[in-house]
Amino acid sequence: MALRAKPRTKFIFVTGGVLSGIGKGITAASIGTILKARGLSVNIQKCDPYLNVDAGTLNPAEHGEVFVTYDGAEADLDLGHYERFLDVELTQSSSLMSGRILQRVISDERAGKYLGKTVQIIPHVTDSIQQDIIEAGKGFDVHIVEIGGTVGDYESLSFIEAIRELSMRRSADCLFTHVVYVPYLSTSREFKTKPAQNAVRELRGLGIVPDVLAVRSEEKPPHSILAKLSLFSGVEPEAIVLLPNARTIYEVPLTMEAAGIAEVITSRLGLHNHRGDLAAWKRVVKSALTNYRKTLRIGVIAKYLHNQDTYMSVFEALRAAGWANEVNIEIVWVNAEALPRDKKEQAVLPTLDGVVVPGGFGQRGLEGKILAARYCLANQKSYLGLCLGLQMAIVAAARSAGIAEATSVELDENSPYKVIDYMADQKDKANTGGTMRLGDYACVLQRGSLARKLYGQEKIVERHRHRCECSNVYRDNYESWGIRASGTSPDGHLVEIIEAIDHPFFIATQAHPEFRSRPARPHPLFIGFLRAILAK
Ligand code: GLN
Repeated sequence: MALRAKPRTKFIFVTGGVLSGIGKGITAASIGTILKARGLSVNIQKCDPYLNVDAGTLNPAEHGEVFVTYDGAEADLDLGHYERFLDVELTQSSSLMSGRILQRVISDERAGKYLGKTVQIIPHVTDSIQQDIIEAGKGFDVHIVEIGGTVGDYESLSFIEAIRELSMRRSADCLFTHVVYVPYLSTSREFKTKPAQNAVRELRGLGIVPDVLAVRSEEKPPHSILAKLSLFSGVEPEAIVLLPNARTIYEVPLTMEAAGIAEVITSRLGLHNHRGDLAAWKRVVKSALTNYRKTLRIGVIAKYLHNQDTYMSVFEALRAAGWANEVNIEIVWVNAEALPRDKKEQAVLPTLDGVVVPGGFGQRGLEGKILAARYCLANQKSYLGLCLGLQMAIVAAARSAGIAEATSVELDENSPYKVIDYMADQKDKANTGGTMRLGDYACVLQRGSLARKLYGQEKIVERHRHRCECSNVYRDNYESWGIRASGTSPDGHLVEIIEAIDHPFFIATQAHPEFRSRPARPHPLFIGFLRAILAK
């Protein structure tokens, strides 16, 4: 019997013009969502022009949260959007930064692999990029590749050249989507298309003609904008989709579906177009847009204030759990650094329904996080600790039990009372890249624990990113501090989850469950956190 060859992977490239931060990631994820709804298998990848090897060393205040994949990649926050929209678990291959490519090309050069050739951006770097893109797309019907930054940036040129070359070799398999921005001038009450026209010209100048234009704007522009943009960009009106600010990011796939973009994409790429089933997605959008009767005030004890991006997955997990419990979530920023000395900041704590202490690094704000945990312990307030939030909860429990000197290695390296210490293999690695305990690790939950009840199973797996651990020197003291280790690594060596014994809901995990929460499948710890508040 003749074997039918698997159809070749189709590539959809998503580039951006005019300015950054206009939602290329959401556009890419939305295209994936409507194609996946057609039964197509979809992979997705972000190419970032920074010279960093991965996002692990980037400051979250500037670049947003570091998203962690199950195989331990420290990636751009767009991977979080991708996972939530596509409901998949991505891998390192979905996050490609210039530094990773250059590192490989240079080490190949050192290893003599170029056999006397001059090593150049074209073809060696661009070939290497193409290789990674093709490799990541293998086995999928469609592979979506978002190029970070804006076209014309000096740094992203090699990526743009690489995808141009790839489309020369596989023209029938490639489609380009350019995301542009159309500003509104309030003085003349007009939407201005010139920046978008220029952005398309810039892309064409680099040898790429866009097939689809995604047009971002603050407000909805008049339909006549389509004809104008089409005339100047050479993209047919039916392949242009208007994306004014959405009420929720989850609405974008529905807007694209309604504009018929999936038809354009599938017909250009020769893919089947079995009518998509977006029913589950519509339910998510409906929940996201519902104003529920009840609102819960959730305090986030944060070092980086008022920056949604820094704690993106935590907020998305809270919101999704809110929908599952039919409540609105009001995020209340609590300044971790100011909390220990600022009475006004402290006065916020009693007004909260629950407290989340998210992950973080460095000394700044740690005392505030400890104080918040102590407050929750003493006042039966619901507490959810994530990674650093577990470590500070243990310090808080020890201090509350009278060990005033209890501390974490991040606060005082030389203290003899470190209830949190560096993991044995992490001592000298502070600030180095890719060296933490990263990605999926298993955990066994104690019978009768709150954790076991919430997860509903004995063995779980969660993603990690940390250097410190609960010091085993103090583990036997936990009960006398009013807490217990309810989850440990399978060998029992590492504390993974703790909970307070006499408390309605005080639970903290060394892992980052927020990365596994999905809009339609919120994480059990987040659901339980809100449910406990509502049960009060
Ligand atoms: N800074 C702590 C550690 O390295 C917590 C890390 C985190 O919250 N991701 O262990």
